[in-house]
Amino acid sequence: VYKRQSTGVVIVDPSDETLAKYEPIAKEFSTRSKKMGQKKEAAQTTDGTKVTLLGNIESIDDLSLLIPYGAQGIGLFRSEFLFFGKELRSFSEEEQYHLYKLLMEETKGLEVTFRVFDVGGDKGKADFSQAEPNPALGCRGIRFLLKNREIFSSQLRALLRVSSEGRLNILLPLVSDVSEVIEAKQVIQEVAINLTAEGSQIAEEIQVGAMIEVPSAVITADLILKECDFISIGTNDLMQYTLAVDRSNKEDYSFYKAIHPSIIRMIDMIVKKAKEYGKSVSLCGEMAADPLLVPLLLGLGIRNFSCSPRYIPPVREMITRVSLDEACEVKDKVLSLENVDQIENFLKETYGPAIAGF
Ligand code: PEP
Ligand code: MG
Repeated sequence: VYKRQSTGVVIVDPSDETLAKYEPIAKEFSTRSKKMGQKKEAAQTTDGTKVTLLGNIESIDDLSLLIPYGAQGIGLFRSEFLFFGKELRSFSEEEQYHLYKLLMEETKGLEVTFRVFDVGGDKGKADFSQAEPNPALGCRGIRFLLKNREIFSSQLRALLRVSSEGRLNILLPLVSDVSEVIEAKQVIQEVAINLTAEGSQIAEEIQVGAMIEVPSAVITADLILKECDFISIGTNDLMQYTLAVDRSNKEDYSFYKAIHPSIIRMIDMIVKKAKEYGKSVSLCGEMAADPLLVPLLLGLGIRNFSCSPRYIPPVREMITRVSLDEACEVKDKVLSLENVDQIENFLKETYGPAIAGF
């Protein structure tokens, strides 16, 4: 919504002219963002409500971004990117163990929410033996892992072997039915029992959570919450599956925005359910990176934001400028509006000038 200096467009082999245009913009954004990132204290609203800011990362190299941008931990480690370009089955337990050990060592003391492989759909073909007419609606995320136990178990073994070295949470991708959570927990339990019998030390407590990114998971959030320790809202996929627009579609559909009333209402439903069940909820879709949406998300009850580290500083800045009362008024107003344009205009009129200065 908010017109960031980054538009998500990748320009391959840019001309000198293009480079000359973007280099100063990139430099300015990075300097400003890092300067804002110096603030390490917990982000809080003007009335003192604390908000946790976490990073979405995809590689061991990305770990170096957490501290400079002021992330308090990892809200989403997209583990599938570790094996990109490699045949999934060739990614051995030992190879993973060394990577995960490094991850835990480098993040000592920070919370690490590790999402098990989310393959399939736009994340590349998961199973080369089976062609699927519509991969986004096929064997993706937790569905793939439960069907390919040796891959799932070897990732879990590598992960649990390093679990006692820090604060590890396991996040399950693309949950569309509570049975997937129950089954995944059984696999985790089996792996833990086997490792203990082999003499490995495993953390006493590992939290298991579900991504809420499919409408069926929103509607049955109560059932899923009963089985999980926490949930994380993935608005990127929730938009795709709710609005029936492929997330990598090039067509510009004006309603395909995170502020679509359907998405806002769903977040409202999820947070209310999570409160009822006393479970923690975070938002880790791209939506969490937009400072213009911060008051709305605070009003909806989001207290854990997870986004690419470089967007944390403007999000933090926005949090420090609003009160919870104001955020609730924004939420009520937005929930009363009927479409993306109305919501966007209202948010821009209210917070556009403040954000322009970030
Ligand atoms: C999401 O779907 O919102 C999400 C955070 O996960 P990913 O973008 O990796 O699918
Ligand atoms: Mg997703």
